[in-house]
Amino acid sequence: MADSAKQGCESSVIDAHIHLDLYEPAELHPMLEEAFYSGVEAVVAVSMDLASCKENEGLSRRYRGRVHPAYGFHPEQELPGDDERDRLLEWIRARHERGEAFAIGEVGLPYYMRTEREAAGESFDETPYLEWLESFVKLAAELDRPIVLHAVYEDADKACDILQRHRVRKAHFHWFKGSAETIARMIECGYYVSITPDVAYESEIIDLVERYPMGQLMAETDGPWPFEGPYSGRRTIPGMARYAAADIARIKGLALEEAEAILLRNTKEFYGIA
Ligand SMILES: [Zn+2]
Repeated sequence: MADSAKQGCESSVIDAHIHLDLYEPAELHPMLEEAFYSGVEAVVAVSMDLASCKENEGLSRRYRGRVHPAYGFHPEQELPGDDERDRLLEWIRARHERGEAFAIGEVGLPYYMRTEREAAGESFDETPYLEWLESFVKLAAELDRPIVLHAVYEDADKACDILQRHRVRKAHFHWFKGSAETIARMIECGYYVSITPDVAYESEIIDLVERYPMGQLMAETDGPWPFEGPYSGRRTIPGMARYAAADIARIKGLALEEAEAILLRNTKEFYGIA
């Protein structure tokens, strides 16, 4: 309480998924300082590739305890050679050996790239993406680290197969979308999902929040990704995770403070944020 009294008057929140290195440096630092002043306790900074991992590692040192990094390779892009993957895996292992705090991610499967190619009548070989994902899941199992996944619709089932094969339980599916069957499977496995501000206007996300247990939810922005509806034209900042929290509270019929406290606790426990 004393800590929050020193800050601005807004409630505490963690943005459980943001791409800090995709903001312009000139806007990034004022944005983070403002966020941390106004009650954003921390952000989980996910990575796109090795260069992005290094940027996020630097940010986690500059904002110690506030920027919690996740290291991985975003699946919605062309894959480099396997030697690049091995370099990345080695780089992550070296951080583990030094005892640094981090998660694995963002990793997953290229749903949007694959379906766009297929809709255009092109073929798409998913096999190398499944292999890359499996190597990150194995690493999460080996290092006993939480993992954050980009895997939606039928791709979530493929990701669940790989996670279950390697007995990984600490899995967070960010901005998840999927069938009722997949949702039920993920709940049963104890996996977490995070909700973006699009829960204000996307019926499938509202439905997901209705179905998913409060104890397995988090709030995120996926910033700098821009939102529509009431947030159209606005720059995405970490504090907007509060909008997702407010809609979760309304959908679950909880008081705002109660919903925010549960989301905060879920995120801290999942990511081991003090
Ligand atoms: Zn992302």
